[in-house]
Amino acid sequence: MPVNLYYTQKVRGFQPEQEKYFSKSAEIHLKRTKHHCPYCGSRDVTAEPLRRRRVRGESLGCCRKVILEFTIHRLYCHRCHHREMEHIPFLSHPKARLTKALERTILELRPHMSVQTLADFYDLRWHTIKELEKKQLKKKYSRIQTAHIKAIGIDEIHVGKGMQNQQYLTIVRDLQSGAVIHVGEGKGISALAGALKKLKKSKLRIVTMDMANAYYSWISENFPKANIVFDHFHVIKLMNDKLDLVRRRITAKMDDVQRKQLKGLRFIFLRNNEDLPEDARQILNNMRGDFQDLGDAYMFKEALRCIYRQAKDSYHARIAFHRWCKMAEETGIPELKTMARTIRDKLDGIVTYWTFRHISNAKMEGFNNKIRWLIKQAYGFRDREYFKLKIYQLPEISSEKSI
Ligand SMILES: [Zn+2]
Repeated sequence: MPVNLYYTQKVRGFQPEQEKYFSKSAEIHLKRTKHHCPYCGSRDVTAEPLRRRRVRGESLGCCRKVILEFTIHRLYCHRCHHREMEHIPFLSHPKARLTKALERTILELRPHMSVQTLADFYDLRWHTIKELEKKQLKKKYSRIQTAHIKAIGIDEIHVGKGMQNQQYLTIVRDLQSGAVIHVGEGKGISALAGALKKLKKSKLRIVTMDMANAYYSWISENFPKANIVFDHFHVIKLMNDKLDLVRRRITAKMDDVQRKQLKGLRFIFLRNNEDLPEDARQILNNMRGDFQDLGDAYMFKEALRCIYRQAKDSYHARIAFHRWCKMAEETGIPELKTMARTIRDKLDGIVTYWTFRHISNAKMEGFNNKIRWLIKQAYGFRDREYFKLKIYQLPEISSEKSI
């Protein structure tokens, strides 16, 4: 009995002409039942065979690799005199290598299986599966609704070595839903070019960003009603960078014995005090004696975190930051002095955090972990556009398996 083409392959208007079965694969030759003119619908057409096509269809039981073979015709209509290439209804585009039905099955499975697993299972190329998903993502994220957006976060993310303008991506996210609104190439204002158009209709009130970057003027120019907030996450990140600078400066001056002592202890300084094991805390205490600046810088970082834990409102936070800056300046440590200057400069944006604290950073943290995972998969090197589309999708991905 011939295979039912509609129920197994979602193919209509064709008949199986010949079927060959092998141990793990099958070949089905198809024949169009009737030709008709795509313009006037007339059946009075001449079909001139042009070439044979082979495409992959849905698996049939243990035959995972099913090939559908058919002829493409050029049609000539005797009623309206149109000449037209035959349209194949079960392909999504004339050059498709898979049937629409198989494409749909693969896209349905994709959230549960990696590209490689799917490629292995269907005996298809990695590239084929990727292109299929890419097409779907492109369609999905070509238009993003932004009218409801009130708060965004702008972040520059280092995505690896490469060409100068390929080392960074700038990501704009909706802070409330966590959705990615824009992924721009490089960093700086030029990376936000596409974001402006997308955010035109938004009701933007809050923008959080890194303290070191240059979006300040861009925001005040395009969204004069928006408040700029330097949130907790960004302030501590900058402080960690300063701590690292102190450590490097001190290491440079050390002799070999001292350097050995400090080597590999970088993590101690970057970790939060309460997360350190007891022995590491001991090492840190000893080190404070030996390397005064490093110990001091570490204490100032902890003091900064303390402000975030204890200040009840922006008024108290402001006082605490002023006190912190004064004391930091008095240490004479250049890195702490720079940090104090930055805090004083950006204090309005820093304390605004207390006003808008309800806008959570929690979504940000999880997102950063996922993005690091994505970078590790080296998507960035294989296909930049796909990599960027996967970033748009990240907030919706719940399991790393399907990244
Ligand atoms: Zn016609």
